[in-house]
Amino acid sequence: MSMALVAGNQAEADPPKGAGLKGALAAAPDTLKTPFETSNGVTWTTQPQAKKFLRDLDAASDRVRVQNIGRTNQQRPIQLVAVGAPTPPSQLLASQGSVVMFTCSVHGDEKSGREAGMQLARDLAFTTDPSLTRFLRRTTVLLVNPNPDGWVADTRGNADGVDVNRDYMKLATPEGRAVTKTIRDWKPDVLNDLHEYGPREFYHTDLLHLWSRNRNVDPVVHDLAKEMSAKYSSALVTSLGYSSGVYGHLVKDGEPFRQVAGDGQARILRNYAGLVNVVGMLSETANQPLDDAEEADASLLNRRRVEVNYSSAVGSVQMGLENRDLLERETAAAAQRNTEAGRSGDGVVYFGGQDDMLPTSSSEVEPKPMCGYQLTAETFAQVRRALALHGIASKRSGDGRYVSLGQPTRGLIPLLFDSRSQYKIADGTPVAC
Ligand SMILES: [Zn+2]
Repeated sequence: MSMALVAGNQAEADPPKGAGLKGALAAAPDTLKTPFETSNGVTWTTQPQAKKFLRDLDAASDRVRVQNIGRTNQQRPIQLVAVGAPTPPSQLLASQGSVVMFTCSVHGDEKSGREAGMQLARDLAFTTDPSLTRFLRRTTVLLVNPNPDGWVADTRGNADGVDVNRDYMKLATPEGRAVTKTIRDWKPDVLNDLHEYGPREFYHTDLLHLWSRNRNVDPVVHDLAKEMSAKYSSALVTSLGYSSGVYGHLVKDGEPFRQVAGDGQARILRNYAGLVNVVGMLSETANQPLDDAEEADASLLNRRRVEVNYSSAVGSVQMGLENRDLLERETAAAAQRNTEAGRSGDGVVYFGGQDDMLPTSSSEVEPKPMCGYQLTAETFAQVRRALALHGIASKRSGDGRYVSLGQPTRGLIPLLFDSRSQYKIADGTPVAC
C-alpha cells in the first residue's frame, strides 16, 4: 500500500476533533431557530415554544422523531427526541446498537441545558458534515427534558417540589420513571446530564464536570466515564477558551482543597447511570456572571451558559463518535462481569466512600457479599414497579420474592435493600452465598 493511500484513508477516517466537531455542527443550516437564538440570548425559550420547536423540527427533518415517554403530575407530556440518519431506528433496533443520551435541565430553573439540547438536536438534524452523518447512521442520539412542570414554574423540583435528581432509586416521580424507562429500553452507552450551578468564592469555572463516583460501578465503566468527563467534554470546553473544573471541588490557586458536592450517592443520575452500566457524567455551567462583561450584559451571560452546556454535550458526541465499538463492547462486558460477580459473591459491596475515597466505617462496606435479598410479599408489592423500571429481575421464593445479585445491576441492588444503605427504598434480608 502506498503512503499516499494510507494518508488518504486516515484523512477520511479521522473525524474532526473537539472544536472542529463543534464547528462542523455550528455550520449546519439553522433556518429553524429557537426563540432564545432569535432573541440572541435575551429571552429564554418557554415550554410551549419548545413544544412547537420540536414539532417543527420533527416535521422538517426525517432524522428527528419526537415521542411522549410519560406525563407529569400537571399532565404535561415528557418528550423524548431521537435523532438518527437517515431516520432514527426503532427503540428495539437502537438498543442493540450505539446510543448517546442527554438529559437536559432536569432542574427546571437551570435553563441552559434544554436550550443546548434543542440546538444540538437541530444541528444534528441538518448537518451535512460527512463524519457526523456517518455517526448518525450508526449511533442514535436521545435528548430529553424530564421536568416540563419545573420549566413552567421556574423551580428546581417537579410540581410536587421533589428533586428528580434525587429520585433515581425510589422512582416516586413520573419524571424519574420516564428517564429510567428510557435508559432501560434504549440502553444508552453514554449519558451526559446537563445542569447549572451557583458560583461562589473558590468555585466559579464556566464548566464543572463529574463522572460516576459510586464505588459499586464497574471499574471499566467508571474509567470511561471519567475519560469522557475530563478528556472529551471538559477538554472541548477549555479548547474554546472557557474554564473548567471538577464538580464539588473548591479550588484556590489551582489546588483543590475541599469537596462540597459530587459524592457517590446512587439516587443521582450521574451515579445511577454507572450502576446500570452506562458511561455517565454531569455538566454544570455557572448561572451567574463570571466577569464584568457578563455582569453588564445578561444576554452574554445567557449565551455563555448555553454555549458551555452545548460544548460539553458535543464532547459526549465526540466520545461516542471515536469510541463506538469500545463503548458497546465494554458496557456489555460490564453487565456480564456484574452478573458473574453477583452470582458467586466475588468482590466487595460498598455502601459508602467514593471512587477516590475508601469507606471509613465498617458499616459502609461488605467484604463478603450476599448473593441476594429476600423480600416479603408486602415489600415486593411496594417496589415491584421500581424494580421493573430498573430492569431488575426477581423470582418467587417462599411467601415472597428473591432478588439475586447475579444480574447486570449487581452494584445497585444492595443499595436499594440493605439496612446499611442510606437511600434504601425498602428493607430486604441479605441471603448469604
Ligand atoms: Zn441541577
